[in-house]
Amino acid sequence: MRKKVYFKTFGCRTNLFDSQVMMQNLEDFDITEDENEADVVVVNSCTVTNGADTTVRSYVNHIEKSSGAKVFLTGCGAHTKGEKLFENKKVFGVFGQSEKQKINMLLKENTPFYELGDLNFVDDAVVEEFIGKSRAFIKIQEGCNFRCNYCIIPFVRGDARSLDEKRILEQVYRLSSNGFGEFILTGTNVGSYGTGEGTNIARLMKQMSQVKGVRRIRVGSLEPIQINDEFKEILGEPWLEKHLHVALQHTSPGMLKLMNRRNRYESDFKLFHTLAEKGFALGTDYIVGHPGESEELWREGMENVKRLPLTHLHAFSYSKRDGTPSAMMKNEVSGNIAKERLHELSSVVDAKNLEFRKAFVGELDVLIESQREDGLYQGFDQHFNKVVIKSDEDLSGNWLTCKEFEVKDEYNYVQI
Ligand code: SF4
Repeated sequence: MRKKVYFKTFGCRTNLFDSQVMMQNLEDFDITEDENEADVVVVNSCTVTNGADTTVRSYVNHIEKSSGAKVFLTGCGAHTKGEKLFENKKVFGVFGQSEKQKINMLLKENTPFYELGDLNFVDDAVVEEFIGKSRAFIKIQEGCNFRCNYCIIPFVRGDARSLDEKRILEQVYRLSSNGFGEFILTGTNVGSYGTGEGTNIARLMKQMSQVKGVRRIRVGSLEPIQINDEFKEILGEPWLEKHLHVALQHTSPGMLKLMNRRNRYESDFKLFHTLAEKGFALGTDYIVGHPGESEELWREGMENVKRLPLTHLHAFSYSKRDGTPSAMMKNEVSGNIAKERLHELSSVVDAKNLEFRKAFVGELDVLIESQREDGLYQGFDQHFNKVVIKSDEDLSGNWLTCKEFEVKDEYNYVQI
């Protein structure tokens, strides 16, 4: 009888992509969506904070207690916690990202193994089908050359390197032939695509847009300096989603220095206004409560946030990551204060998002992703704002142009 494998994916889109690659390379096993009936569990782990490590460890313990399935560990956590879990016999096998295409063979191993592989490998996996998703993720690069003080990622994903352009375009071609119209470019530091190789992300996107069936392209996250002149030239293209996620991480100049960030508030301010004038909805990452974030620096950051045309926010409280410079810093911020700050920041950006949606004049271009439990459909528009739709027809996976919509507090509402 064929064994059943359950994939548990933690963390970011890169991990989601890696899980898809593994699923696609399984030949002698069946995939199950039900953890309880699995003979084998593959944990694709994240190690971005100490908390993420704890979550992965607890999950491995939970499997051991509940089902006793054979557990394999991969993903970023394999590099930081793999050895310990392996020594303690909590996992049967540990393998690094470079080994993922060998998964069929690895899961058949009879002897425990610990195989981290090559941290600097260049991925050549092609994904043809995304199970249960209406948007396709395309991985274009891996690793990061930045060294932000709080971040462990470069140590577990290696330095920046790009995937081969031909392979990327081949994948886009195959996915668009399978009905996908929206593509999301992902990687550890996506905007560094092509660095040192005489190309860049704007050029790649232009090429992608020429593939038949490609309707919308989204970039996972960019660093401000990566929106260079060539990128600015594609801002008017109809295939570029009118939403950009530009990672600032903070808006106080002092905090940016403490975090060893490369962006500077003054130029971030100019960039955000340039993009907003062209009709873009703008999101950012923001870390609250990093060591050294005094009340004064926090207030300064908040005043600066208010001056930015932000519409989306991915904010989180700083969480210590052993092995990073920030973990050694004094002047830590208490969890309660960080929580309050996070709340304050989110309220400001939520209000800005509502303002943006109210001021928008035009049609919403919506890709419907799913049907909710209450029977309504849900998708995202060109500004990456949520749209909820009432319809008697089955709309899953459809594109819809909506002329009339109602702006609600948390989403736009359409009745057909
Ligand atoms: S840019 Fe900074 S935060 Fe992002 S992956 Fe690189 S080091 Fe980490």
